[in-house]
Amino acid sequence: MSSEKYWHENSTSSPTVKRSAASLQSVSVLGCGSPVPLSLINGLRKQQRIVAVRSSSEPRAPHSVSTRRQFVQATAAVTAFASLATPLLAQPAGKSIGIKTLKTDVLVCGGGCAGIAAALAASRRGAKVLLVEKAPFAGGIITCVGLPYFDGIANIKDNRIVVRGIALELLSKSGVCKPDATHTAKHNPTIGNSFEFKLLLDRLIREQRDRLTVLFNSVVCAVNTVGSRIRSVQIANKDGLVTIEANTVIDCTGDADVAAWAGAPFEQNVEVQPLTLHFRIGNVKRVGNLSLNCRAALAKAQAAGELPFYYGPGVMFLYHDSEVYIHGIRVPANPTDAADLSRAEMQGRADAWAMFQAWRREVPGFEQSYFIEAYPWIGVRESRRLIGQYVLNEDDLMKSRRFDDAIATGCWYLDLHPNKTVIGSANDFDPKKVQPEPYDIPYRSLLPKKLENLLVAGRCHSASRGAHASTRVTVTAMAMGEAAGTAAALAVAAKKNPQEIGGSMVRETLKAIGAGPFTDA
Ligand SMILES: Cc1cc2nc3c(=O)[nH]c(=O)nc-3n(C[C@H](O)[C@H](O)[C@H](O)COP(=O)(O)OP(=O)(O)OC[C@H]3O[C@@H](n4cnc5c(N)ncnc54)[C@H](O)[C@@H]3O)c2cc1C
Repeated sequence: MSSEKYWHENSTSSPTVKRSAASLQSVSVLGCGSPVPLSLINGLRKQQRIVAVRSSSEPRAPHSVSTRRQFVQATAAVTAFASLATPLLAQPAGKSIGIKTLKTDVLVCGGGCAGIAAALAASRRGAKVLLVEKAPFAGGIITCVGLPYFDGIANIKDNRIVVRGIALELLSKSGVCKPDATHTAKHNPTIGNSFEFKLLLDRLIREQRDRLTVLFNSVVCAVNTVGSRIRSVQIANKDGLVTIEANTVIDCTGDADVAAWAGAPFEQNVEVQPLTLHFRIGNVKRVGNLSLNCRAALAKAQAAGELPFYYGPGVMFLYHDSEVYIHGIRVPANPTDAADLSRAEMQGRADAWAMFQAWRREVPGFEQSYFIEAYPWIGVRESRRLIGQYVLNEDDLMKSRRFDDAIATGCWYLDLHPNKTVIGSANDFDPKKVQPEPYDIPYRSLLPKKLENLLVAGRCHSASRGAHASTRVTVTAMAMGEAAGTAAALAVAAKKNPQEIGGSMVRETLKAIGAGPFTDA
């Protein structure tokens, strides 16, 4: 499937244009009293020029309306009707389920940290790729939840970069470091602007337009599995329900939607890490100990029944001297239950507003502050985890166990947020005690047990809950996505399934382009 073909299929056909124009002979214009000729309607631009000319001292045309007021009324009405005369889109009768089937080599579901890397890696390696994302832009947590951190890119001890490839490319193209940097200024660098990040991803997607098609505002909603193969994936978007057939599917939804619906084994804890909405407040003055004062105000608000839970709060001057960015919302919920997720979205917004009100009321420095925005979605840290061919565990991380089929490096601490604690530390673990050395992520942790044409990358890959608390961070997800995209393209080229492409081959291929595990650098 080429992107060209896809868009041509959707374009307006000329017969429709002719039919709609032919059905209009003349129209009566309200307030004008006489029918307006079709030539006037079709010549909207010309009419606009006439208005401009008539404002000068030139004489009126003999057939025109007699007063200026009438003329303005008439041309306004003509403009309205002329807009009715623009071509109509075809409306196929009975447009409903399965009206369109698309074919592609690689289907990437979810365009977040892992998904964008997977789509770029696979298309750059020559595969035809379709990327499907439910948001109107790529970037996942970075753009939907406004999280600017590139955690996992560098070792906390010495800031040495341990993930290169597309993650480093995105960081350097965001102006944070050089493309060939070996170290970052801090181990957890941040990008300056999530909108600019959207534009960067748009540009990188467009650069691959010959092979990479993106469908935003498109939700993966069903999977058709026959035996051990995914035969097709269904998405819902403005075209209705669309069926996609792909040689290889990469699940980068974060929630393992595709894997779960395809019948792959997975697990999800009853109590997962809490959901968090991020928001920003402007015109804040740095007065006194802002963090302490903010926390005290939240404790009071909670005692008064205005706020069920919170943590920290992390009140940070991240983007501007007078603007704070807040991590502090803590909503326990089940992110794979649509109704509970909806409740969590509303709770997150209510809590953000309650925090803002409490600080304006109680905290010196917030008197003249204003609420800038909350990001569109509440963030999900944890949901389904694949039970794949290998389940990466805490011991592997803490011992930095080496794997022959390593395709990525992780290095973040085991960052597990408690679900209901109201204040204090964000984590169940003491970061100092659960800080692994850089460790390997094996290819088998991206492979489901049963399905032969599916890869799973990002925070839903196969890991125990403790290991996942480290592998879930943004850059580690990007590294897994790049490996999955590379494996999918290799599989397409070899006419094999990703299961048949050995992890060693994926690793060698990544090494040749300066990506993959840091031990290969
Ligand atoms: C509140 C919060 C704070 C965090 N803090 C940090 C931090 O400080 N540092 C850090 O490195 N990491 C942090 N993380 C973790 C990290 O951001 C994520 O785990 C990481 O983004 C995982 O990448 P991903 O690609 O797997 O998921 P995401 O980046 O979430 O991408 C998943 C994408 O799939 C799309 N999608 C989902 N379902 C469907 C569907 N059915 N159809 C189509 N599209 C779909 C989503 O819209 C999204 O774009 C935080 C996470 C949260 C929630």
